Amino acid sequence: MSWSSSGGPGRIAGDGAVVARAPAKINVHLAVGPLRPDGFHELRTVYLAVSLFDTVTVRPGNGLALSVTGEGTTGTGPDAVPTDHRNLVWRAAELLAQRAGVALDATITIDKSIPAAAGLAGGSADAAAALVALDALWGTHATRGELAALAAQLGSDVPFSLHGGIALGSGRGEQLSPVLARRRWDWVLGIAGEGLSTPSVYAELDRLRDDGRVPDGGVLASPEPVIAALRSGPVSALAAALANDLQPPAVSLRPALRRALRAATDAGAPAAIVSGSGPTVAALADDEDGAVRLAAELAGMGVYRTVRAVHGPVPGARLVG
Ligand code: ATP
Repeated sequence: MSWSSSGGPGRIAGDGAVVARAPAKINVHLAVGPLRPDGFHELRTVYLAVSLFDTVTVRPGNGLALSVTGEGTTGTGPDAVPTDHRNLVWRAAELLAQRAGVALDATITIDKSIPAAAGLAGGSADAAAALVALDALWGTHATRGELAALAAQLGSDVPFSLHGGIALGSGRGEQLSPVLARRRWDWVLGIAGEGLSTPSVYAELDRLRDDGRVPDGGVLASPEPVIAALRSGPVSALAAALANDLQPPAVSLRPALRRALRAATDAGAPAAIVSGSGPTVAALADDEDGAVRLAAELAGMGVYRTVRAVHGPVPGARLVG
């Protein structure tokens, strides 16, 4: 890789801060193949970026310092957001600095709106936003393709957090093909009080498959129905096409999800699905007004810790301001 590291600043505001944000994702189709020898599962997934964003602010510093505000600052267990090398943002900074040959100097703040361990790829969003912000701060001038290559090394969902919009993901989810949609889709996210660990949900899927309680994943379901529905609607077509192989194991580990899913359709959602590895419920709405009504009704039911009306597709990681 031959980057033109000027060593000089990129797009920097008054106090030297560079700000970037990146969106949460919903998997509107998630087909999981059998466990591969490398420990990953082969995926065929359709990602949709939605309007719930984390913001990453980077400033000049000596060495690396990281702090986290907002959602996830008080969590324990899988919800806890680390502020050291275990944070995906820390690893993103190390990787970019190493590949571009610049000093690892930055003071980074993550302001989280995306709850951790919620199946919304919050950590991946933070890593993608950090790559974009640090590239500007350090003047490393990486191309979008070079950032995407770094993103793929950081995690399966990070390339999509950088890309945004709608995309078909294969491999571990990191190999993307863009999907164009002619319309916007409105959703309500039902966010649980406690997160679920993604590895434990995959392990539960393997267990349910070994016991013959769910199909073995030998044949991956086609994403075509969901892609066709996303392109042009109607809502009923997308509602019928939503599919997630991780929903049965997420419900098995968190039986309260059954009630959370039913609450959404009882409240009038055309369909509801577990987002990624859960436990967030993504309830499809008819339109923007429908999403506002659905969010108000679901907030009043007390089934979720919090609800958010969102829409997608929205762009991936971008500089702000
Ligand atoms: P996945 O992307 O694996 O599906 P998720 O979307 O459910 O996961 P994330 O919010 O990305 O969940 O966090 C998963 C785990 O990653 C958490 O348990 C947390 O300890 C760790 N983590 C590392 N960096 C971050 C970050 N910046 N924000 C949130 N969690 C992070």
